Amino acid sequence: MTESRNDLERWDREIVWHAFTQMAEYEPLVIDRAHGCWLVDLDGREYLDGVSSLWCNVHGHVHPRLNAAIRQQLDQVAHVTSLGMSNPTTVRLAKRLVEIAPDGLGHVFFSSDGSSAIEVALKMAFQYWRQCPNPGPQKTKYIAYGDAYHGDTLGSVSVGGVDLFNEIFRPLLFDVIRLPSPTCYRMPPGVTQETACDFYLEQLQRCLAEHHEQIAAVIIEPLVQGAAGMVVHPRGLLTGIRRLTRQYGVLMIADEVAVGFGRTGRMFACEHEQVTPDLLCLGKGLTGGYLPMAATLTTGDVWQAFLGHYADARTFFHGHTYGGNPVAAAVSLASLEVFQEEQTLEQMPAKIDRLAEHLKRIAGLEHVGDVRQCGLMAGVELVQDCETAEPYPWQEQRGIRACHHALQQGVWLRPLGNVIVIMPPLSITLDELDQIGQAVYDGILAAQK
Ligand SMILES: *Cc1c(COP(=O)(O)O)cnc(C)c1O
Repeated sequence: MTESRNDLERWDREIVWHAFTQMAEYEPLVIDRAHGCWLVDLDGREYLDGVSSLWCNVHGHVHPRLNAAIRQQLDQVAHVTSLGMSNPTTVRLAKRLVEIAPDGLGHVFFSSDGSSAIEVALKMAFQYWRQCPNPGPQKTKYIAYGDAYHGDTLGSVSVGGVDLFNEIFRPLLFDVIRLPSPTCYRMPPGVTQETACDFYLEQLQRCLAEHHEQIAAVIIEPLVQGAAGMVVHPRGLLTGIRRLTRQYGVLMIADEVAVGFGRTGRMFACEHEQVTPDLLCLGKGLTGGYLPMAATLTTGDVWQAFLGHYADARTFFHGHTYGGNPVAAAVSLASLEVFQEEQTLEQMPAKIDRLAEHLKRIAGLEHVGDVRQCGLMAGVELVQDCETAEPYPWQEQRGIRACHHALQQGVWLRPLGNVIVIMPPLSITLDELDQIGQAVYDGILAAQK
């Protein structure tokens, strides 16, 4: 290596165009290596990874079992296309996913990232209604929720509802029917925690009653809308959505890209309410956070609708070059084995409780309007006025300021606007959780100055 640290940082600032980053203000933070839940920069400074490398890491970084699985697969074959052929590792992963997924999801379509898994689900749902035994030729629309986030490709942006990200692309997007975010904070007048679930389901029911003949699918992030700011839905909503979509003959797409693979305390969020969607989208934690891979699982009913002679043109004409990549499949399989070997899910209740203790303390701070938690996934919303829930203007970057302070204390966090996100790897220790909790507490105090 001949270049200096300064060179690297300059090239990083001037050449690399970073995701969701204002490059005019970007300050390089170059991570050279990692171990467990710790990231190490070029100077050897260590930071606790408080957001799981953007919500995907599960068992920690540089895990020996996961590294070994990748090395072993490399010596067999690094890539086999899924267009008309296969490899044993990817077949095994598909089999495992079907075994652990909610009952009834017997088929797996692989892609390379969460956004693609959503595109696949949207296109499958659309084509399904053209080819199923009782076709619905008018079923060309989707129902999606306000503040939903389903990815950055144009289809997934169309069903997404985060205006700050979507507004500029509006002319490129298809229309969806949008229902308000099923939040338990800043609820419509007259709605309480107790009545929220019924209220949101009634809205969906009215919408389906009116439009079901035009609706191909309802898409939802089960239990928690992540990028919306960790918006936790009222209990029972998911079951209600499943019941109503069945009743009105509409498919249900569950986007578990963020909440899947243990994040909520169960392997999949849908398990909390015993729901089997028609299409289940997985990404992020699938490979333990090591390599790009995503999957769309579906039912025998959807699968059947695509079978026929080639000349019937019922084929799903969609596929990504690296979909089902065997190296990614190998590390995904190893990650599922580590869940068992390390009893990852069994150890979560203690960690979830510890995080809840920290959130309780943080909730008492001035300008903390709401704290929301589901499993090892939490958001702390900073507001101008707790009484009225008046938000801080987003331009003030209160979240960024709090996280900047936490970074000085050796905890790396990335906020969503005024919401501080706490989402560490599931392998985090209680001591490490304490460090994150303290850094968030101190960061919030610092951001108020
Ligand atoms: C991150 C995310 C996506 C998009 O996944 P990418 O891999 O970033 O394309 C989709 N849905 C949800 C809920 C997500 O959190």
